[in-house]
Amino acid sequence: MTRIRSNDLDRGFSTRAVHAGQQEDPLAGAVMTPIYQTSTYVQEGLGRHKGYEYARTQNPTREALERNVASLEGGQYGFAFGSGLAATDTVLKLLSAGDHVVCGENVYGGTHRLMERVYARLGLTFTFVDSRDIRNIERAVTPATRMIYCETPTNPMMHLTDLAAVGDLTQARGLLLTVDNTFATPFFQRPLSSGADIVIHSTTKYLNGHSDMVGGVVITSRDDLAERIGFLQNGAGAVPGPMDCWLALRGIKTLPLRMRRHDENGRRIAQWLSQHRAITRIYYPGLPSHPQHDLACRQMSGFGGMISIDLGDPEKARRMAERTKIFALAESLGGVESLIGHPASMTHASVPVAMRQAMGLTDSLIRLSCGIEDADDLMADLEQALG
Ligand SMILES: *Cc1c(COP(=O)(O)O)cnc(C)c1O
Repeated sequence: MTRIRSNDLDRGFSTRAVHAGQQEDPLAGAVMTPIYQTSTYVQEGLGRHKGYEYARTQNPTREALERNVASLEGGQYGFAFGSGLAATDTVLKLLSAGDHVVCGENVYGGTHRLMERVYARLGLTFTFVDSRDIRNIERAVTPATRMIYCETPTNPMMHLTDLAAVGDLTQARGLLLTVDNTFATPFFQRPLSSGADIVIHSTTKYLNGHSDMVGGVVITSRDDLAERIGFLQNGAGAVPGPMDCWLALRGIKTLPLRMRRHDENGRRIAQWLSQHRAITRIYYPGLPSHPQHDLACRQMSGFGGMISIDLGDPEKARRMAERTKIFALAESLGGVESLIGHPASMTHASVPVAMRQAMGLTDSLIRLSCGIEDADDLMADLEQALG
């Protein structure tokens, strides 16, 4: 169980992104946290060691990452996992058979699949609701409900959940609030300050930012939850290797710079696309035309580089996805390079068709992850692909 140090919350966000959770290497003074590529640690005698016994349980590189992300989220404890889904899996293991979860209907496709195809079989029950309206969440709560799980903004529909309102609800009812903050990152949104108990990230995306590893983290400030999550991290063992922790830690150092640029490109490209005749609908919380723009301005300090557009015709969407030259056709998001995807056949293929259609996730929807390249080049690429 990794707790932040007392000075990990002292400084500004960018200073913490570079330094929090890290310490000078005692052997050589290496400025960068070493990759402790080891499975075990020598003990001086029976029960006498430096606090490290076996690498599933403790690893110094992993601990540096855990403290770093916890500090950025304003949390007390961090836990790193082998993937974002392993992080979610661990959080769901806090519950027991018979417990009920109210979940946003537009959560990450893999989260939906994990709930419906794995945990439903093990006795948890789930109600998926349109969490844009707090009343839908409130109405779905039953005496068996233990957790509200949401993602905001969602992928790919850019639905927002009012974090302060749902935080008030969960605190009043004694429920756990878990928020997947992968899209916004702590640079733009910090759910713990709105009453969330647990924050989850796929570090694969913006936190690492360079599309060269897969990982996840869980952050909390609650001692009781930290105790149990720490137990599960070791007891179920879905831990990341030290090399991936190091890559994430190194990526996070530039998170503020990258997020500012993703946001700048996202706003410019969304503004330009919103005027484009080939597009029938655009989803970007930074546009004043987005139905939840006011909420976005209240609870986020920026909107990032994720934009969804509907071309009104599946064939046109397919052509566009296959024609871009800078935007690479690939799953995933949040890297320095721009990506284009077709959610219905790629990231959200595991979501039932009826559910996809009900929330507007059509076969003509395209999702863009705008990277940090020159916006003019990105717009020229989209223009030629739309032409
Ligand atoms: C990718 C993603 C996940 C899952 O993370 P993995 O690292 O791929 O397991 C969860 N939530 C969101 C919002 C994501 O984008």
